[in-house]
Amino acid sequence: VAKGRGKNTYQLFDRAIDASIIRQNKIAARLPLSIHEGELRIVMQPKVLLHDGSFKGFETLSRWRLNGEDISPEEFVAVAENTGSIRELDLRVMHEAASFSTQLEQETGVAVPVAVNLSANTFRSGSLLEDIQDVLWETGLRPDRLTIEVTETAAIENWKLVQDVLNRLREIGVRAALDDFGTGYSSLAYLLRMKFDEIKIDREFVRDIKPDNDNHKLLQHIAEMAESLGVELVIEGIETEQQVELIRGSAHRIGQGYYFSRPLELDDARDYLSSTILDQSGDISSSA
Ligand code: C2E
Ligand code: MG
Ligand code: MG
Ligand code: MG
Repeated sequence: VAKGRGKNTYQLFDRAIDASIIRQNKIAARLPLSIHEGELRIVMQPKVLLHDGSFKGFETLSRWRLNGEDISPEEFVAVAENTGSIRELDLRVMHEAASFSTQLEQETGVAVPVAVNLSANTFRSGSLLEDIQDVLWETGLRPDRLTIEVTETAAIENWKLVQDVLNRLREIGVRAALDDFGTGYSSLAYLLRMKFDEIKIDREFVRDIKPDNDNHKLLQHIAEMAESLGVELVIEGIETEQQVELIRGSAHRIGQGYYFSRPLELDDARDYLSSTILDQSGDISSSA
């Protein structure tokens, strides 16, 4: 590739690779222990109703700081999958999110639905249903306050298994969301068969949305389809007022993104909830 550019190019390239391998190794060596010792933390990003900004629930996201550096979940989730520690990570996150939700609901009297992301590997671990039931039992979380998010890609690659688990979760009242919709290649038929309670449209669609451009049309189309199927629709990655204007649509559309709120540390999530309760003074009830 770098023919004629001399030896230095190769050396730089080699060194960059070395550095990234060393970094990967450091992360892989430390992560399982960090998970086990509870060194990861969770943050919460609100989902809101687009037409009036009212609170619909939190999505739980993991955070990990290693030697003063924030490692992105995209990176450490992949490492956890490769080192066999993702199930422990996902279940810990679920446990913490469930505790947070029950505690806050007791304090405020307001329903605090929480969603957690589960890796395909976690789905493949045989005991997932029992594990989820344990979390509900240990934390006292009402099952209908919990949503499991599974990415479109993970759902398609394991669709029989995922479908089976989701059906059984539905029996106990736990909700399921199809995450990052639009990034894989699933057809409408898959959607119909899997019976998700919620579809989250990936932020790729929203990023360069303009009036009547392809993404805008696609998004409208997906939204109308979801709505006609009675599936709740969440649009991810909303950053600007203009984006909100373009996608507001029907009255029950839900949004998530920096425009409404970044992912919040737990104390800030509490404050956020308190202020939305004040804003809506009584509009929200804790009934299901
Ligand atoms: P995700 O589940 O699709 O989560 C949404 C991601 O988009 C989060 O990135 C969030 O911080 C980011 N985001 C939210 N609003 C905006 C916005 O307006 N603009 C932009 N540019 N980004 C926005 P994050 O926290 O880095 O997480 C990345 C992915 O890592 C998640 O995507 C999820 O797939 C995975 N992940 C995070 N926590 C966990 C976990 O505990 N377990 C598993 N299995 N996966 C996790
Ligand atoms: Mg998600
Ligand atoms: Mg997503
Ligand atoms: Mg994502």
